[in-house]
Formats: sequence, structure tokens, C-alpha cells
Amino acid sequence: MEEEKAMKQSEARDWMRMEIESSSRNEEFARVTAAVFLSRLDPTLEEINDVKTAVSEAVTNCVIHGYEGGAGVIYIEAQTEGRDFVISIRDEGKGIEDVARAMEPMYTSDTTGERSGMGFSFMEAFMDEVAVDSQPGRGTRVTMKKKIGR
Ligand code: ATP
Ligand code: MG
Repeated sequence: MEEEKAMKQSEARDWMRMEIESSSRNEEFARVTAAVFLSRLDPTLEEINDVKTAVSEAVTNCVIHGYEGGAGVIYIEAQTEGRDFVISIRDEGKGIEDVARAMEPMYTSDTTGERSGMGFSFMEAFMDEVAVDSQPGRGTRVTMKKKIGR
């Protein structure tokens, strides 16, 4: 009986945490792991793809902008709370001076012409909430939330 109760509780709130080396080949690993964890909420294919895209954009930003292609660790935490899926992706890289400007559609600090500045816009389009917390020289944390199964 007690066991059953504990089981119900763990179904209501579930979490995972991982650390990965900053490299573009880990982007897929992060995206797929997030999707597998998310699958506990029985999401639709569309919801899975939304989360994968958002995670991919956030992790790519850590690799390219946070650590500028160099060595570093990316910290990922995810949890489910009822129907809510929450994921945070963090680096201890260079940080962002002006978060509001960085989040504007088509803003990019990239000068090579390779980036379109749409990463944050995609995260906002595919998730219900996106919060960015950053300190120059310290790093950046992106926390995203999505309600699964409307
Ligand atoms: P795209 O995502 O379309 O390839 P982008 O990465 O430049 O281009 P966004 O993902 O929207 O566009 O990010 C906007 C800007 O915010 C980046 O150009 C960069 O200056 C800054 N930025 C984003 N994430 C980080 C991060 N983790 N660390 C430092 N700067 C970041
Ligand atoms: Mg980006």
C-alpha cells in the first residue's frame, strides 16, 4: 500500500539531471535524451518534435556562443510536474550582456553570416515559456516549460 502511494507520487513528479561535454555531436544526444524523458508524459509526435527543436537550439547556443567551440560542460535538468515538462539547459561560458536584445528575432552576434538569429524565437514558438538568466563571464541558463497533452 505504502509502496503504491510512493509510486503514484513519483509518477506525479519525475526528474533527471545530466552533464555533457560541450560539442556539437552531443547536441543530438541531449535532444534524444530529453525526448525519451518526455515520453513519460505520453506526448504527441508534434510535442516531441517541439521539445527536440527547442533543446537543440539551446544546446547549440551553449556550444557555439557560450563556450565558443571550446571545452566546457553543459548542464541539463528536466522534470515533469503533472502535465508540465520543464527543462533547463545551462553553460558556464561567456554569458550574455543584453538578454532582451539577444532574444529579439533575427538578432545574432555572429558575423560570419552563418547564423540567422532565430534560436530563441524557435524556443519561444515551440515551448509555452522560455526564461533566460545570464551573467557576462559566468554563463547562461535557459529554462523552458511546456504543458503536454492539451
Ligand atoms: P541561430 O540560432 O539562428 O543559429 P543565433 O544562435 O545567433 O542564430 P539565437 O539562438 O536566437 O541566435 O541567439 C541570439 C544571440 O544570443 C546569439 O547570437 C548570442 O549572441 C547570444 N546567445 C545565445 N545563447 C547564448 C549562450 N548560451 N551564451 C552566450 N551567448 C548566447
Ligand atoms: Mg542559436
